[in-house]
Amino acid sequence: MATYTPPLRDMQFIMHEVLNVMADLQAMPVHAEIDADTINAVLEEGGKFASEVLLPLNISGDTEGCTYDTASHAVTTPAGYKEAYAQYVDGGWAALSCEPEFGGQGLPLIVNQCFYEMMNSANQAWAMYPGLTHGAYAALETHGTPEQKAAYLHKMSSGEWTGTMCLTEPHCGTDLGLMRTKAEPQVDGSYKLTGNKIFISAGEHDLTSNIIHLVLARLPDAPPGIKGVSLFIVPKFLVNADGSLGARNGIYCGGLEHKMGIKSNVTAQIVLDGAVGTLVGQPNKGMQGMFVMMNAARLGVGNQSLGLTEVAFQNALAYAKERIQMRSLTGPKATDKPADPILVHPDVRRMLLTAKAYAEGGRALMCFSSMLLEKEHHHPDEAVRKESGELLAMLTPIVKAFITDNGWAATSGCLQVFGGHGYIKEWGMEQFVRDARINMIYEGTNTIQSLDLLGRKILGNNGATLKKFGKLIGTLVAEEGVNEKMAEFITPIAMLGEQMTKFTTELGFKGFQNPDEVGAAAVDYLRVAGHLVFGYFWARMAQVALRQIAAGNTDPFYVAKLQTARFYFAKLFPETTTLMRTARTGSKVLMDTDAALA
Ligand SMILES: Cc1cc2nc3c(=O)[nH]c(=O)nc-3n(C[C@H](O)[C@H](O)[C@H](O)COP(=O)(O)OP(=O)(O)OC[C@H]3O[C@@H](n4cnc5c(N)ncnc54)[C@H](O)[C@@H]3O)c2cc1C
Repeated sequence: MATYTPPLRDMQFIMHEVLNVMADLQAMPVHAEIDADTINAVLEEGGKFASEVLLPLNISGDTEGCTYDTASHAVTTPAGYKEAYAQYVDGGWAALSCEPEFGGQGLPLIVNQCFYEMMNSANQAWAMYPGLTHGAYAALETHGTPEQKAAYLHKMSSGEWTGTMCLTEPHCGTDLGLMRTKAEPQVDGSYKLTGNKIFISAGEHDLTSNIIHLVLARLPDAPPGIKGVSLFIVPKFLVNADGSLGARNGIYCGGLEHKMGIKSNVTAQIVLDGAVGTLVGQPNKGMQGMFVMMNAARLGVGNQSLGLTEVAFQNALAYAKERIQMRSLTGPKATDKPADPILVHPDVRRMLLTAKAYAEGGRALMCFSSMLLEKEHHHPDEAVRKESGELLAMLTPIVKAFITDNGWAATSGCLQVFGGHGYIKEWGMEQFVRDARINMIYEGTNTIQSLDLLGRKILGNNGATLKKFGKLIGTLVAEEGVNEKMAEFITPIAMLGEQMTKFTTELGFKGFQNPDEVGAAAVDYLRVAGHLVFGYFWARMAQVALRQIAAGNTDPFYVAKLQTARFYFAKLFPETTTLMRTARTGSKVLMDTDAALA
């Protein structure tokens, strides 16, 4: 079975030494009282919950899966899941970063994000049951009426009820404008919803007494396409005026999907059979509310792959130290043994360091993004709120797609470290690979993320947001540009920053003449942008490590950081050169291929 040690030291390093989050947090009145010790202590306890309660259920949950009862439409989660959920609620974990106004503890979002990283490492499929609730909570908090907030938010922040997002239909996945589910207005102001949703995560389960579905549907007079989609709250059980549960609503599970990974998380077919719902926000403006949920979920999905990358790395490293095969190319190292540990082999180190560099770079980006979200909502200065929101909008597709693509490569590489044993179920590695694969698909496929980044977020505003990130790099270059020790980290990102400006203008020009040029370059572009962002954070992490070492700190943690930073810039970052080259080959090699694809 896989083991897991919460990476608390690295979380503390990123929060307190690299990003200095306390200064930013204390500048916001809602967090003026928070201190680093509280954050560290909460995460220490959160790590115990993940490693002691959730990890032991990971393989058993995957093997057992969820069961569906056709007669009652009920779903049973694997053994131990219900008890773990009760422990999660009793421990107050659901309320961590929810607003005190709605029963939450009001802790910074970064605490919840780090806690979720650890839960994702321990058991991604389990963590999805409470995980989706946060996005639904955020959508209702932003767009719900006072009555809706009063009816739902307390129970969702306490974890008593969970939430879902119901978008996908059999004929409508990426293209939500094709949606058919109908919502008919009733005289009492409510709506009756009819239709079929598929692939709904946590769409039915036995963990809570109620499930709050956020459903997209069309009103009878709705304009065609995405501009005619509205958002509704459709609870599994109707909620009485006093908050108690009322009648069973006409929304139920019609069956479960049998899938490659996250087997212990329910993926439900959902039938709406005249289900009672209430409108969230304005008619035909449903995507506004749903986007709050989708953006939260996109960050959450990046965090899922971060968790899997970390746990896969930890297990592969431990294995590489124990497993002995062949001798080192430079002569025997473990002379008391018949062979050397496989850690002596350069390529085994490459696979391990790739996972480590992706995990630690991803963690820095996740924490930075959580702080942007926090500032967007809570910073007293309007200009900071606006700037944070714009930067986060650009980084969100990178978090979602770059971290999940990396997670797939990293978990697969870590499986490879185990050789044939990685392919065998009992070690847990093959599950990490299977679980990581969905993260590249749901919440908008990674292709769609790349189109969002290049088409909307970058070219859509003539590269203005990219320039905002460029300013961060500029500040670092100004600080460290003359420091020879930092040159190996600063020069590559400064150069890539300059190349990207030209590269982006070039793609914008080509895309203006032929939109397929954007579609053909977008995936490569997102990876280049991902490395620009990771490169920036790796340079900042190296900066802190170098300063500590120069000050005489002998903690091997800093040496490890520097070594990993060097590996990242030597072995991973240079793929940007190839990616820009392939992006520049244009759309013709893809689109002028009718004979090849006949
Ligand atoms: C396990 C699981 C859990 C899920 N959970 C939920 C959930 O909780 N709620 C929910 O609503 N949905 C959920 N989904 C659905 C998921 O979000 C969709 O599967 C996803 O958005 C893709 O839609 P699709 O499967 O219909 O693929 P399609 O939209 O048919 O796409 C097929 C392929 O075409 C590509 N493509 C489509 N359009 C374009 C384009 N314009 N340019 C380039 N490429 C394009 C896609 O990238 C993809 O590779 C889940 C799915 C799974 C498998």
